[in-house]
Amino acid sequence: MWEFGRRGYLKYGAYTPEVVLEHPNLVESMYREFVHAGSDVVQAFTYFGHREKLKSVGREEDLETLNRTALRLARKVADDTDKIMAAGICNTGVWDPDNETTKILARKMFKEQVEWAVEENADYIIGETYNDSGEAMAALETIKEYGKGLPAVITMAAYFPNITVDDIPFPQALRKLEEAGAAVVGLNCARGKHLYPNNLESVRCNSEDIREFAEEAKRIGVQYIGLCCGNCSALFRELAESYDRKPPASKYAPDISLSSVFGGTIWQEIWTC
Ligand SMILES: [Zn+2]
Repeated sequence: MWEFGRRGYLKYGAYTPEVVLEHPNLVESMYREFVHAGSDVVQAFTYFGHREKLKSVGREEDLETLNRTALRLARKVADDTDKIMAAGICNTGVWDPDNETTKILARKMFKEQVEWAVEENADYIIGETYNDSGEAMAALETIKEYGKGLPAVITMAAYFPNITVDDIPFPQALRKLEEAGAAVVGLNCARGKHLYPNNLESVRCNSEDIREFAEEAKRIGVQYIGLCCGNCSALFRELAESYDRKPPASKYAPDISLSSVFGGTIWQEIWTC
């Protein structure tokens, strides 16, 4: 999402993936770029491609076309590159734990996207960026009910360091999801090295940050890993290489010894004098 914002194809604030409708070729190209950088998964770009968000930008009638296009392109790239394809649902923005009507609405939004994911042959479904454990559970239950057996990966966003917004410690909330049948549980978003308001570029992690993060994750046994806001293919390659992968993009991984400025003896002399 942020990468398309950075490139000028997505409006910060709305964060809706209209680029899927307007420039599907660019979306396909970005899918391929991340495979090139080492991703095993082609994730359909449907984050904030749900009914409420599209309604907020006056494009509710494009909902199904947007979802199916994002899914089909992801399926195509996954098949072409021998990877797996994930569909995605996310935080609805309507969920209010004290209001049953909003919960019904959120479940309806999940259901339609889950059904499109099944019809477009996703290999599994990601439910992401939930800060309320009830909404995360509703997403999982919807995938279980309408996902025709597709595995569910559920990740939450920690806006507070240790507890969900409905006051449940994360280990407990995630364990409940796992016990309810999630294939993978974890965290995404909101817990990076820096917080960002509107200016992501000013607080973006650099490649050393990513390598440090990936090595720590590997050390503690994390087997399923990705990057969230601020991700780009160069950082993703860093992550993949930290996990001992050698994706095609590794051919172009940095080698500063080749730099005429930093790799030569002049620079070393400056530093040593
Ligand atoms: Zn994020």
